Amino acid sequence: MTGATETSPWPKALTPDFSALGSGAPLSREMACRLLRSDDEILPHLLGAARAAKERFKPGVITYSRKVFIPLTNLCRDYCGYCIFRRDPGDPGARTLSPEEVLELARQGEKLGCREALFSLGDKPELLFGEMRDTLRRLGYKSTLHYLEAMCELVLQETALLPHPNPGLMSTGWILRLSAVSPSMGLMLETTNAGLLRSGAAHDNAPDKLPAKRLRTIEAAGKQGVPFTTGLLIGIGETIEDRVDTLLAIRDLHDRYGHIQEIIVINDWGGVSPLTPDFINPEKPWPHLEQLRLRTEAKGFKLEQRLPVYPEFLPRILDRPGLLADRVRASADSQGYARRAA
Ligand code: SF4
Repeated sequence: MTGATETSPWPKALTPDFSALGSGAPLSREMACRLLRSDDEILPHLLGAARAAKERFKPGVITYSRKVFIPLTNLCRDYCGYCIFRRDPGDPGARTLSPEEVLELARQGEKLGCREALFSLGDKPELLFGEMRDTLRRLGYKSTLHYLEAMCELVLQETALLPHPNPGLMSTGWILRLSAVSPSMGLMLETTNAGLLRSGAAHDNAPDKLPAKRLRTIEAAGKQGVPFTTGLLIGIGETIEDRVDTLLAIRDLHDRYGHIQEIIVINDWGGVSPLTPDFINPEKPWPHLEQLRLRTEAKGFKLEQRLPVYPEFLPRILDRPGLLADRVRASADSQGYARRAA
């Protein structure tokens, strides 16, 4: 590794080893761990380098997706230690939305200019709860994923919203089925540390959080060319090394398949809802949209509303004829952002 170059954001005297950041070369694990341990003196330089990297790929713009949050069911077969979304059947607030409720939420969001219907739900609750199997039987579906697929299709047919499902682990077959009714989908990798499944840790009693299974789903999406959102969780008992390993695993998958459109928090505000609360993190409500615009512009960026699928991933959706491509085409402007309502 060489010393700081003229274009490096790193002051030579402070951090000569960090100079590779300015060169665009891939970060090593060792370097990434050192950066995450940066002290206050280094932090402004680190933020400057992050901003410079963001500007190289997304100059002048911060995006967000105006979305309506559709919590299809908060029953879940996993028990993640930090989760405040999930419920057991019979718990106060336990709920599976009916098709009418899904459509009503989507229509309200449509009126408020939303473009994304974010489907969040617990992972395969019918495997654990007879009550969920009864609900699905009453609704006429074999599994939660069958019901999700039908609700994505309903929203696609009846509204101008584009579905973005987050149903937990998916097989290749399910990724293919859902990709016919949604232009993008997501699964948080969360962590690559399988040790968090040990007794008493965050993923104790959460079989779907085995990192190898989640990596397999993200890889399967990559092989199918599905635009994919993922990310990591901070503060669940992981180490600095775990955070780095998780990010590097995502980088590795993207290097191989080119399908990761978003790693939650970098150059995008994520999903912002003018209608429904954030059911996953209700203690951190979304900022008001106008405030978001003012604060983004105060930092010298333009705020752009995007679709659930990022602009650079639109061509692979538009190439497939059918209702989904028609809806995406109708929703996108010439740059691939959300078309403004007339
Ligand atoms: S899988 Fe998701 S919904 Fe289920 S407990 Fe874990 S974080 Fe909550």
